[in-house]
Amino acid sequence: MLKGKVAIVTGGTRGIGYAIVKKYLENGASVVLFGSREETVEKALTSLNSENPNWKVDGAWPNLSDANAVAEAIQKVKDKYGRIDILANNAGISQSTKIEDYDPADFDKIMNLNVKALFHTIQPTVKYMREQGGGCIINTSSMVSISGQPSGVGYPTSKSAVNGLTWSLARELGPSNIRVNAVAPGITRTDMVAALPEKMIQPLIANIPLRKVGEPEDIANAFLFLASDMASYVTGEILSVDGAMRT
Ligand code: NAD
Repeated sequence: MLKGKVAIVTGGTRGIGYAIVKKYLENGASVVLFGSREETVEKALTSLNSENPNWKVDGAWPNLSDANAVAEAIQKVKDKYGRIDILANNAGISQSTKIEDYDPADFDKIMNLNVKALFHTIQPTVKYMREQGGGCIINTSSMVSISGQPSGVGYPTSKSAVNGLTWSLARELGPSNIRVNAVAPGITRTDMVAALPEKMIQPLIANIPLRKVGEPEDIANAFLFLASDMASYVTGEILSVDGAMRT
């Protein structure tokens, strides 16, 4: 479904990001995964190369809070592969601290990675996508972007901002044949969820009509669809992949 395409996936070293990288590689794309540290990027690359030595996968670890570092890393991708067809913005962090205990510095940290880093990756990529006549950007929202969550105000706030950014850029970039969508996962089995206490997870599952948490591959399948030509008329969409859970 992605033969000949070049993709960047942020936060591609584990969890949902790693599943997206694998899915894109299995479908014929060349992928550059961005991680936060050289060590974890190298570990992910070793694991992917051992699964299939023919996969064209590469890695980088720019600081996503640093616009210049991100622009430089993205230019390197363009220089090496000649184009950038898909930008999957997946890196993100969450926190569920109550408002009274919430450190303002943590609020900034969440907004910086979950929202501003998207601005940093999208800005230089758009330039190349416009030059090559199109491309697609897929952001990572969350079901809590619509519903909010009972504690940890920074995270749902950041994901609502992701929706706003997605809707707006879909309108701005549509005339340049650049599609912009987001995937809004529900509860998905990754380290982010493993960090939640079990007593919090069980009642949540009872609330999911499909009666199970999502797997990273469920989310990666949505990223595949939106990146593919099957979604050629889909833009400005926040695609829920949450087993119909409504908090
Ligand atoms: P995870 O914690 O397993 O992985 C997060 C990824 O982000 C990792 O690859 C990590 O290296 C990267 N990352 C974290 N901090 C970074 C930084 N400062 N700079 C660069 N990269 C950094 O989480 P996940 O569950 O795979 O989450 C992936 C995305 O899906 C996030 O945007 C998250 O908000 C979203 N999401 C997850 C769930 C869920 O239930 N797991 C639900 C809704 C949305």
